[in-house]
Amino acid sequence: MKEYSYDDIRSSIRPTLGDSVPLSLFRILRIIGMRDLLGESAGPTLYMMGKSVGNMLAPKTMDEFQTTIKELRIGIPEIEAATEDRLLVNLRECITCAGFSNTGEMFCDMESGIIAGLLEKVFNKKARSTQTKSWSVGYNYCQFDVVLY
Ligand SMILES: [Zn+2]
Repeated sequence: MKEYSYDDIRSSIRPTLGDSVPLSLFRILRIIGMRDLLGESAGPTLYMMGKSVGNMLAPKTMDEFQTTIKELRIGIPEIEAATEDRLLVNLRECITCAGFSNTGEMFCDMESGIIAGLLEKVFNKKARSTQTKSWSVGYNYCQFDVVLY
């Protein structure tokens, strides 16, 4: 199986439809399709996928970290707190859960992985991210607790 890079997939020729797709399509694939296909392993799989995507995008600074997340419209990241080995990242307008009803379950595993993967490159350390807030558990933003080690 061939491996494709970010450059390979960026080029699109869609003169009428352009390079945007409805958020509902993303959520059908992400929240319905992936969970149907992967079941209980959807969370860990999406986290690992997000992590490799974050590593591939490889930001060098916190500015680039924030710009990357915003430009890909994953959400609007805000650093709520940061120490040498821990960051609390809030994500406003999360691509997966913003506007979602309170289901009592958090499932922004891909976003969690992307944030961890990006931060690994910024700090040149390993990162483990845990989601602590989501629209789907009654907040109006997402939050990730990231440990650097
Ligand atoms: Zn979310």
